Amino acid sequence: MLSDPFFAGPGLDRADALRAHPGRISELARRPDARLLLWKEGAPALDEEGRLQWAVVEDDPPLFLGLDGEVPHFSSLPPGNVPIDGRAHFGLLAELHASDAPIFAAALSLANWHRRHGFCSVCGSATTPNRGGWSRACASCSGEHYPRADPVVILLVEHDGRLLLGRQPQYPPQRFSALAGFVEPGETIEAAVARELFEEAGISVRDVTYLASQPWPFPSTLMIGAICTADSDSLTIDYDELDDARWFSRADVEAALAGDPSAPFLPPPRFAIARTLLDRWVAGVARTAA
Ligand SMILES: [Zn+2]
Repeated sequence: MLSDPFFAGPGLDRADALRAHPGRISELARRPDARLLLWKEGAPALDEEGRLQWAVVEDDPPLFLGLDGEVPHFSSLPPGNVPIDGRAHFGLLAELHASDAPIFAAALSLANWHRRHGFCSVCGSATTPNRGGWSRACASCSGEHYPRADPVVILLVEHDGRLLLGRQPQYPPQRFSALAGFVEPGETIEAAVARELFEEAGISVRDVTYLASQPWPFPSTLMIGAICTADSDSLTIDYDELDDARWFSRADVEAALAGDPSAPFLPPPRFAIARTLLDRWVAGVARTAA
């Protein structure tokens, strides 16, 4: 059975109904089994097995992450800078246990959001955490602001049994991955796919089909994986965006995923949804071009 994307999964019961009741959240924080997430260098701290580290709760932490069964889980707002660039933390992500990844993603995204939204976007006054940390309230204008996720489309593009992959300038040598881009306001997912691929590779595509999604907490992205078919294999690459883009055969992709040293490219790491999409493509779970 194929694994889900890293960071995907239910994580904790977010217990939304409790968020409007600060007294009940305070009672939960006083339970002897309540857990407080530990942070290290701006990211949730991991033990030697890649599991999240927790401590006993001592006062009212600002972030109520949710419940595991009846056990409440909290976080403080970590001091210092919270990472917003995942590349600086690939070592940490390589160690992170998959079963803790959804909680890691939620806590890091939420902490990132609080650190970057200390002031009201309506009137400019300082805001304070509200609803167990799942909003910020402005006392001056009574505005309430909620954490956001920014949608990004990430794409398997097929043509005649081959797959289009690209290299961004910051990738390690030889790495190729799925092309991706932010969905802009007013766009559908399908329109964003068509625009990104035309901008970056000069191709027109059709038959866009959703495959899978993944939260990416740097700072707070929702990766939306899709597959589509290119009308032609003729590329016009935007070298301001990409170092390179090429078509790869199924054998090429299989060799890369198998770690074959003679493979023509290095695949994305296991915690990237692009890797999940490639795994599914070679397994025949993603559809293939007619
Ligand atoms: Zn305000």
